[in-house]
Amino acid sequence: MASIRNNLNHKSTEFRKAPPKHYEIKIVRRKTTPSWFMASTSVEMQSNILRDRLTNGKTLVVAEGYVFEFERRGYLQAGAFVPEVVTEHPELVKQLHEEFVHAGSDVVLAFTYYGHREKLRLIGKEDQLEVLNRKALAIASEVARETGMLFAGNICNTTVYRGDDPDSVQAVRDMFTEQVVWAVEAGVDFIVAETFAKFPEAMLALEVIKEVGKGVPAVVTLAASGRDVTAEGIPMEEACRQLEEAGATVVGLNCCRGPKTILPLMAKIRKVCKGPIACLPVTYRTSSEYPTFHSLIDPGSNQHAFPFDLPALCCSRREIKEFARECRDLGVEYVGLCCGNCSHYLRVVAEEYGRKPPASKYSPDMSQHFMYGDKSKFEQNSALLKTFQNGSS
Ligand SMILES: [Zn+2]
Repeated sequence: MASIRNNLNHKSTEFRKAPPKHYEIKIVRRKTTPSWFMASTSVEMQSNILRDRLTNGKTLVVAEGYVFEFERRGYLQAGAFVPEVVTEHPELVKQLHEEFVHAGSDVVLAFTYYGHREKLRLIGKEDQLEVLNRKALAIASEVARETGMLFAGNICNTTVYRGDDPDSVQAVRDMFTEQVVWAVEAGVDFIVAETFAKFPEAMLALEVIKEVGKGVPAVVTLAASGRDVTAEGIPMEEACRQLEEAGATVVGLNCCRGPKTILPLMAKIRKVCKGPIACLPVTYRTSSEYPTFHSLIDPGSNQHAFPFDLPALCCSRREIKEFARECRDLGVEYVGLCCGNCSHYLRVVAEEYGRKPPASKYSPDMSQHFMYGDKSKFEQNSALLKTFQNGSS
């Protein structure tokens, strides 16, 4: 662990002097906007670091999936899925940010997913809400600064939005507002608002970012269920088009669907959205029969796999590579992975998008393997390989 950190710190020093080689353009960190600028320009006229990073064929690779990864590691409880690890083990959160940057993430996303007031209330720790949010933002900011990557805040579906109840809408607005204000105070480059199945809730998130975000750009992504429409029946591509029209810099889909079932929707979104689009699926083998990770059946038990038995349905690296290639061909500018993401997957995506992150130093080279490798070196082991590959026959 220490050696990884030392290695990364060493790289970090280089990053501060010059962008890493796998970067496509020079990184320009957003400075605090001068007050005269805020007073005299509209949101549309302000500089938009996110748009600048995604125009003229440029792309961003983005690691998500922190909730599942910390649950898997034994530092976060499935059920409420609240990121308590932020305050209980901040050093581990920092390390995972570093690991994802090492694997090719261009963005350090503050781990405030499900760190909103409703979730903290659910586990009886509402009094820790602000501390958790500010800590998560501080950790992500530190790693972004050290590595030269973009720093993003994060808000998400609240689980309590009910459009026909003004009190619910106001409560959700208040939850978004406090988190956006904390993120802006921490100096984020942009804010990710994600995993919305309800279109009006996504619109409300965007509205709040525009209202209190002081011009910080927004990525807004929807979560597609088994149907190709939002909870209200709006086609996903139309919902994305409206979010883009309402001012989101990047729109798209994340979570719930795996590579195979998210891509057909992305093709429709590409057709109607003019600006950058985002695609961050879960890393499980969803199919037309089982389009979301909630619907997947564990072939071993014949039971629903979500969430504990999803490892029985993990994508292969080959499938992740194929996904990234299709995204690139489709023109997805903001690409990444959500629940189930691990560094070995993210590196594949980064490499398919033309990057060579530090972790590429350790990308597989099977020519050196004693059975699979170069025949001239390992000829004597070819017979041995056959005995392993043939199983019991
Ligand atoms: Zn997810």
